[in-house]
Amino acid sequence: MNLVDDKTIVRQYFNSTGFDRWQRIYGEGKVNKVQLDIRTGHQQTVDTVIKWLQADGNLPGLCVCDAGCGVGSLSIPLADAGAIVCASDISEKMVAEAYDRSTAVPGKLYNISFAAQDLEALTGKFHTVICLDVLIHYPQNKAAEMIAHLSSIAESRLILSFAPKTLALTALKKIGELFPGPSKTTRAYQHREADIIKILESNGFVINRTAMTSTNFYYSRLLEAVRK
Ligand code: SAM
Repeated sequence: MNLVDDKTIVRQYFNSTGFDRWQRIYGEGKVNKVQLDIRTGHQQTVDTVIKWLQADGNLPGLCVCDAGCGVGSLSIPLADAGAIVCASDISEKMVAEAYDRSTAVPGKLYNISFAAQDLEALTGKFHTVICLDVLIHYPQNKAAEMIAHLSSIAESRLILSFAPKTLALTALKKIGELFPGPSKTTRAYQHREADIIKILESNGFVINRTAMTSTNFYYSRLLEAVRK
């Protein structure tokens, strides 16, 4: 299967069953135990990014691109902290939900522009580009191209998160694949940290901060890369 197929499948998934599943996980309503665990883990990843950016002290007015923004879990708190956010996602339904969430509080106006767009078609320049939990939809041989594109629009910093490829997690994934359920996602790709770092370095970045979120069902390695 090539990436064009993968992307079409991902877009269709996040416009249909995937939308229903993930907008619930990334929400506040009742969910099952596994989904609650994933919600908690994902929130930790989002909180770490916000904490990093706030610690730098220049978040108000900072131009940030949230590539693959989902339902706005990161974009909205970033804008709330004063950032100017360009949020985009390949799924029209995810972007529409993000927009609805950003306008849910009467009288509260965020500086966020939304677009339904493949992140590899993004243009412009942003101080910081952030792409959380999207690499899981990219096979290893397509990760370099995707990161190179995000690098080309990132003036100072690129923050990425991905499911790390380790022996233990690969085994867990295999067990999961033995029990496919109707609400399971599209193919999930893990990535070796060393590969991702090599790609970032070849695009002119060095790693500045790292974090790891591990809950029972959610594993996400977070890297902040800054221009050399
Ligand atoms: N980044 C968000 C977050 O952390 O809350 C959403 C993460 S969700 C697991 C993955 C998102 O990536 C989905 O909303 C999906 O539509 C989006 N996505 C996948 N491939 C994409 C692509 N090529 N361009 C833009 N968005 C993409």
